[in-house]
Amino acid sequence: MDLAKLLRDVPDFPKPGILFKDITPLLADPAAMRETIARLARLDCGRIDKVAAIESRGFLFGVPLALQLGVGFVPVRKPGKLPWKTSRVEYVLEYGTDAVEIHQDAVRSGERVLLVDDLLATGGTMGAACQLIEGCGGVVAACAFVVELCFLPGRQRLAPRRVDSLIQVR
Ligand code: AMP
Repeated sequence: MDLAKLLRDVPDFPKPGILFKDITPLLADPAAMRETIARLARLDCGRIDKVAAIESRGFLFGVPLALQLGVGFVPVRKPGKLPWKTSRVEYVLEYGTDAVEIHQDAVRSGERVLLVDDLLATGGTMGAACQLIEGCGGVVAACAFVVELCFLPGRQRLAPRRVDSLIQVR
């Protein structure tokens, strides 16, 4: 199944010069979603104790992937959304900074975590999420993406961590 056909290119969204990869046609196709989750679940990255995903599009793949693997799900969220004790990592954007948070008790020391997001661009968001997991004593088993923009240095930014993607845009 060619999952790439279910991505819609939207030019100049959310701002001029950005070619937005719209995943809503993929979400709307249950056979393609089933195939997407199955392919993510087949990535061979050893024992997985938890799946973590980044708000909000990452959740759309992270929760079904965790169910498929039979492990717990950990939400990585934007600041101020999580109610319990949190850890925060800030990261640099093109203009300004952003941050992500995790519950301090979400991952235990030595647990192997599979991180997932919809799309890898610069890797800033995923890099910060990895730092959160590692800050809890967790081990990043892999960073998995549905889409990778290969013309950006996201993969290099996440090195030496393992990076997997289902669709490569060149
Ligand atoms: P980055 O931190 O630069 O790797 O950006 C990754 C996050 O931004 C992902 O969670 C994506 O949802 C979103 N994103 C960045 N660029 C695009 C794009 N061209 N199309 C769709 N989503 C994008």
